[in-house]
Amino acid sequence: MLRIAHELLRIAQILCAAETLDKGRIQKFRKDFLTLMKNAKIVSNYEQAVEWAKGMQRWRKHFEDYTFRYVLDSLKKLQYKKVITKDQYTIWDDHLRTPLWDLVINLSVPIDYTNQHISKDMAFQRFENELPSWERSVRRYSRKAWKALDEFVEWHQSLDEGEFEVNTPTTEQFNIEGFPVILMSRPDSYVKPKEAMAKLKKALSIVKAGASKYAPILLRMKIPIVVDLLNLSLDTGGEYQQGKVFLYGGPMTRNPKEIASVIAHELAHAVYAKHISGKGSDLWHKHISGNFGTLDLRDVLKKYGNEQDFFDNAKIKKKDPVLYLQLMGLINDPAYKNTFQNILSMDNLREYLEGGGEPKVSVNKKPVSGYGQKNSMEAFTEAMSLLTTYGPRALHPETMYVLKMIL
Ligand SMILES: [Zn+2]
Repeated sequence: MLRIAHELLRIAQILCAAETLDKGRIQKFRKDFLTLMKNAKIVSNYEQAVEWAKGMQRWRKHFEDYTFRYVLDSLKKLQYKKVITKDQYTIWDDHLRTPLWDLVINLSVPIDYTNQHISKDMAFQRFENELPSWERSVRRYSRKAWKALDEFVEWHQSLDEGEFEVNTPTTEQFNIEGFPVILMSRPDSYVKPKEAMAKLKKALSIVKAGASKYAPILLRMKIPIVVDLLNLSLDTGGEYQQGKVFLYGGPMTRNPKEIASVIAHELAHAVYAKHISGKGSDLWHKHISGNFGTLDLRDVLKKYGNEQDFFDNAKIKKKDPVLYLQLMGLINDPAYKNTFQNILSMDNLREYLEGGGEPKVSVNKKPVSGYGQKNSMEAFTEAMSLLTTYGPRALHPETMYVLKMIL
């Protein structure tokens, strides 16, 4: 199936280099898409189906980036430049967004990953059964998407403003401190590429120094780091997906040490996905889930009731670091998140308890970090991040012991 993978890569590259959107470009999209769909016909076993699904996934990511980020972003720019009115912007943004999104979300190929309950044969059989209806629906959605894009281009031509320019990013490759780095930027990026790269260099030298001492596996994997300055992403620091670490523009405004901890966290996702399995992951899960105990919020109120903030309280952080992490864990724990996102101050906590709210909550007795309370995997990536950026003193000795055993 190498042929498919190469073809997909070629298509992906063409997509990223596109500078204008016209009928020819849409025709090209349609042709490439049909070529990919035809490849389903030569899939004859589970491994090939997985390979094909991965290729489709990659195409989907590029199509999504091109349309949602670059085309719609360029449309918004026309409004800023007052080439079009706000109403025109809203109408066309809407007109494109719905069919494009329908296509993107329906593009994921119906193939299951195997586990102890699902064998390769079972997964492949299911794939074969579901493929025809999947193909029908994807083709239907694709026709709607091409139609909307065609209509958009026709409308834009009628404005007589020349071609519709799509602001795709410039992609550059570097090797920094031994890490392969891909920088996606534009001269008008909110965070300037030069500034971002200077900070990244500092951050990567922190990661390199800490990882070579305490977690060399983070360096051995040679995971590419994509710095995407076009995506501000204020809510997520970074992401690990499709074998790459993505760092976004928003987090690049922080200091190098904070950036280093985001990078180490995301690199650790790669370690968790590729190296921690079977016994190791069982052991880790037991360590994290076996440490839960009860925290009585009335005690918190008794001790810190005069304080202002419930979360991220500097005094608690200093005096009671474990309690601090436990409280931070409450907004990340899926079981409590909805309750505690409304309890921001000690006054809110008082109202909650007086209103009959449950005073006893389950917390980790040896918490790794607030975010680590989300699940075992995030506890692992947080532990690796703390270890890399702050050394073993940032972890409970027992956590350190288990980490050493499974790495
Ligand atoms: Zn994570």
